[in-house]
Amino acid sequence: GIYNYMPLGLRVIRKVEAIIREEMNKAGAIELTMPVVQPAELWQETGRFEKMGPELLRIQDRHGRDFIIQPTSEEVVTDIARQEFKSYKQLPKNLYQIQTKFRDERRPRFGLMRGREFIMKDAYSFDKDADSAKASYQNMAGAYRKIFDRFGLRYRAVAADSGAIGGDLSEEFQVIAATGEDAIIYCPDSDYAANIEKAEALAPTHSRPAATAALQKVSPPGKTACADVAELLGIALQRMVKSVVIATDSRNDKGEVIKTQLHLLLLRGDHEVNEVKVGKLAGLADFRLASGAEIEAHFNCKPGYLGPVALNQPLPVIADREVALMADFVCGANEVDAHLTGVNWGRDLPEAQVVADIRNVVEGDLSPCGKGKLAIERGIEIGHVFYLGQKYSATMKATFLDTDGKPKPFEMGCYGIGVTRLPAAAIEQNHDAKGIIWPDAIAPFTAVICPVGADRSPAVKDAADALYAQLLGAGVDVILDDRGERPGAMFADWELIGVPHRITIGDKSLKDGRGESHPRRAEAAERVALATIFPFMEQKLGLKS
Ligand code: ATP
Ligand code: MG
Repeated sequence: GIYNYMPLGLRVIRKVEAIIREEMNKAGAIELTMPVVQPAELWQETGRFEKMGPELLRIQDRHGRDFIIQPTSEEVVTDIARQEFKSYKQLPKNLYQIQTKFRDERRPRFGLMRGREFIMKDAYSFDKDADSAKASYQNMAGAYRKIFDRFGLRYRAVAADSGAIGGDLSEEFQVIAATGEDAIIYCPDSDYAANIEKAEALAPTHSRPAATAALQKVSPPGKTACADVAELLGIALQRMVKSVVIATDSRNDKGEVIKTQLHLLLLRGDHEVNEVKVGKLAGLADFRLASGAEIEAHFNCKPGYLGPVALNQPLPVIADREVALMADFVCGANEVDAHLTGVNWGRDLPEAQVVADIRNVVEGDLSPCGKGKLAIERGIEIGHVFYLGQKYSATMKATFLDTDGKPKPFEMGCYGIGVTRLPAAAIEQNHDAKGIIWPDAIAPFTAVICPVGADRSPAVKDAADALYAQLLGAGVDVILDDRGERPGAMFADWELIGVPHRITIGDKSLKDGRGESHPRRAEAAERVALATIFPFMEQKLGLKS
């Protein structure tokens, strides 16, 4: 998870940074840099020094004082604000840096995609009230759209969960790629898009059907997985209800667990639990999965055969919206090798205490926008905009004097872009069997000139040199391949590197006064008169409209 940025890669990173910098400046943000190594005291003020897990790299200096390597910079920037912004007259402000970050990721992988040391653009806005903070947030969300449009990648801005802060002001910018880690939910018939944590599974519109079957115990031996039980019983997975047991711990002042409460979540057999949604229910903010031993002690039965009927001891039952409307369903019997069929709410078990949306949406669910059905695609998160409110300013007592002369905590927002993740995402989205296909805007070079046989033919060398000088002069980021490689090897290298435009100049075509243009995405090369190759390239590269 720690890398050298080699010359070609660094050129890409610099172009990404330049686009970000230009648009951030245009949006009114101001660049600074904050330390990579930061004093622990600031992180102790917000409690993150203790609370953040091992992802936060903690180090000590020669005097045994604690420091951290910045994974992000809310504490330091809030400290800057409380020193520098004394009055509402100095607000709003948006400060950003393009800087090295370190996160001791549990699973660094896919190279720059999830590194431990990486470059992030992080910005932080400071406002005098919530309305103005929301305007700053929208301003950044707009700037992000401009930035991502300029990268030349296919992306979606998706609504994301804003955690304990609440409100709807959190969006992720996702580059669409089949290999992406994140599931993006969208509606093909509207502009609704959300990540899987956030996307709401609407309450079904139908009412619960009447019970038709009698309660029966069946014994499909050794089957615990819902799918296996359904297959054995010859029923659809949608008729099954699965049980997930979670636990909440109450602690005393010393942080010791004094009581553990188990809760039973019920989901349709083909649905998956959504932990973010569960964590938002009353009293479940700090839930965890129950252990096998805890489950056995409570249910007097091994996990795999659990259900909400005939409970050994009562416990709170939380049914997904879909489950609450099921009739004649199948679930575990709280007995090894036994399941119940024909189970009905109200008759065989009391109605669930809580009915809520606790599942991930699936393809084909009705869209919350009311305009169609949900579809799913994969994405790579490369940016995130987030309204923070007073989360950091209140705990760090970062205040300014408001119009009434009274101190008030700043209203904040934070905005990140994964600068080094972006090239990795661009490659995932744009490649073929021969190698990378860079979008023009972030390619290490926009164009390459490949002279064939320049060592034998002064005419080829002269023509290549002249075109190179002309394109350079016009501000094209062009490279001349003067290594003297054979054409096959030369072309294969540039296809692998992914330079979007290649111009070949060889003896044969030069005799008719022509060269060849071969865009990386095109099937074949196009012969172009040498005299017109410069205007031709100018047009291809969009230098002339
Ligand atoms: P993830 O869920 O992928 O771990 P995150 O939610 O932790 O990301 P943020 O804290 O929002 O990420 O950071 C802002 C941006 O920094 C992300 O959108 C992503 O592009 C980038 N980023 C985060 N972690 C890494 C990493 N380990 N390597 C490279 N880029 C990263
Ligand atoms: Mg992360």
